[in-house]
Amino acid sequence: MPELPEVETIVRELQAVVPGARVRSVAVSLPKIVKLPVPRLRRAVLGSTIRHVHRRAKLVLIDLSSGWTLVIHLKMSGQLIWRPRRGRLRVGGHPIPQGTTGWPNKYSHVIIGASTGTLFFNDQRQFGHLKLVKTSELEQWLEEQEYGPEPLADDFTVELFLDLLRHHRRKRLKPTLMDQTVVAGVGNIYADEACHFARVRPQRRIASLTRRERRALYRGLRHVMALAIKHRGTSAYVYRRTDGGRGGMRPFLRVYGRGGQPCRRCGGAIIKTTLAGRGTHYCPNCQD
Ligand SMILES: [Zn+2]
Repeated sequence: MPELPEVETIVRELQAVVPGARVRSVAVSLPKIVKLPVPRLRRAVLGSTIRHVHRRAKLVLIDLSSGWTLVIHLKMSGQLIWRPRRGRLRVGGHPIPQGTTGWPNKYSHVIIGASTGTLFFNDQRQFGHLKLVKTSELEQWLEEQEYGPEPLADDFTVELFLDLLRHHRRKRLKPTLMDQTVVAGVGNIYADEACHFARVRPQRRIASLTRRERRALYRGLRHVMALAIKHRGTSAYVYRRTDGGRGGMRPFLRVYGRGGQPCRRCGGAIIKTTLAGRGTHYCPNCQD
């Protein structure tokens, strides 16, 4: 599932190229992915200009000149692809399935044709969705979704994090980090990475964490999120970039996807286990 760094990466890519594009067509081949009547969607977006692409938690927000904002949640397997009339393809979200060669394809459920290119919303497993919110009411709407703070925002202070943890004393650490009302945008990969950074096992109960460990977790969350954004997320880019590289955070992951391999800090073997139904990785030697 795309987490905050993967969503932030595609948002930055889109924001660099799509503002100013005028929407000329909207095609929806899977109406259930659009959480409003398709004719209403068409009325709101046709003829409007894309103003600004931004993000809150794992949501992609596309402001239009019509006064509406497209709200896109990629969920498990959603992708956004911008194919410009000129220049390189921009791909974000879930990796492109093996064997996929072009767009649109059978997973392209929403296709927005614009003056400077085409935006495809693809979703193999169809859990993603697209909504429409009035731009003037967006802030209020986002507040109602009860997302926790953005991990890299200035107002996400260590005091705030300590306070948020105090409300979850009986819960285990990793599911707490992945609780979107605690911190926005943290998923399976970066929860494991933050725990490794902080030398704490993901199974620990919040109540058992020392103040020092809690502070290390705060630093770990900020560190892994910033690093992952710098490297443009994990496995979000399986296509070849125009410079021939693949980019990506994967070589910088310390535990996630490394079961059985040596810990990059202490050399111990990384264990892969299951916690709350999710594959979970940690080093039993340097994480307590
Ligand atoms: Zn280790």
